[in-house]
Amino acid sequence: MRLAKRLAVTALNRIGRYVAPAYIAGDRVEDAMRVCARLQARGWGVTVCPWDDETDPHHEMARRYAEALVALRRAGGDGYLSVKAPSFGYDRALLADLVAIAEEDGRRIHFDSMYPQSAQPTLDLVRAAAGIYPHLGCTLPARWPRSLQDVAAVAGAVETVRVVKGQWADPVHPDTGVEDRYEAIVRALAGRVPRVAVASHDPPLVARCLDILAASDSACELELLYGLPRGVARLAAERGVPVRMYVPYGVAYLPYALNDLRRRPRILAWIARDMAVRALGLRR
Ligand SMILES: Cc1cc2nc3c(=O)[nH]c(=O)nc-3n(C[C@H](O)[C@H](O)[C@H](O)COP(=O)(O)OP(=O)(O)OC[C@H]3O[C@@H](n4cnc5c(N)ncnc54)[C@H](O)[C@@H]3O)c2cc1C
Repeated sequence: MRLAKRLAVTALNRIGRYVAPAYIAGDRVEDAMRVCARLQARGWGVTVCPWDDETDPHHEMARRYAEALVALRRAGGDGYLSVKAPSFGYDRALLADLVAIAEEDGRRIHFDSMYPQSAQPTLDLVRAAAGIYPHLGCTLPARWPRSLQDVAAVAGAVETVRVVKGQWADPVHPDTGVEDRYEAIVRALAGRVPRVAVASHDPPLVARCLDILAASDSACELELLYGLPRGVARLAAERGVPVRMYVPYGVAYLPYALNDLRRRPRILAWIARDMAVRALGLRR
């Protein structure tokens, strides 16, 4: 049994190493900015995030975030920086340094959501940052029931809330009703925050959420992950909603991608389908 598990993990590692380059912009900020330039030329917005493997020192990750902010400024446009608060140890002094760079051109700093234990410290940091900088965003994952309560906590603190299904399960509650909760979170945010980003590749869910937001006072965007199928962007175009691409870069993306593969082996089928479509030269 142990041998079977080891063989499965080895196979997933091999597959991951083969497919990962299709899902990241590259190792360096220059790679990400090249991808962003292509996307911006097509009229799409961007957000970039250097990914780490949690062994990188906090000050080194803060340096890479600062480097990305400067690159976004040089590129022009409204591209924003996505950060992972655990990667810089929730350190308020390091965040203040980033804010000092971002405020030179009013660029958005957005907090990704990470594993469940990081939810409260990230939220505390976001609310503290709201006291020194107005152009903030944060992410609410629909897999966690707490996200519905967190709507009240983030409303008034951030300009933009990104809603995702979430990479991590709730540690206590069963993993059910995610799409319904996603929609409920969007309804709760509609009209309460200036902008809601619907971040999903799930067409029926995206259509429902964009329609909810169109009937509210909140602006909305569709956000997609670089490398995943883009067909869902059609739903945004039909509704006149802007599309933004999340462009991750950095050598450490792989372990994160592999976690996803282990949790949901059906991703392998999606990857095979995407690779076939790419090989045939068909755009998704
Ligand atoms: C812009 C953006 C930002 C995100 N930020 C965060 C974050 O901060 N924290 C966090 O926990 N999660 C984040 N996520 C990931 C998110 O939580 C989901 O894991 C991911 O988006 C897949 O969920 P889905 O809503 O697209 O629906 P799914 O039901 O998972 O997928 C819908 C469809 O998309 C396609 N698809 C999905 N995944 C793949 C794949 N790997 N390969 C090929 N096709 C695929 C398939 O056609 C599938 O049917 C983000 C996602 C996006 C798009």
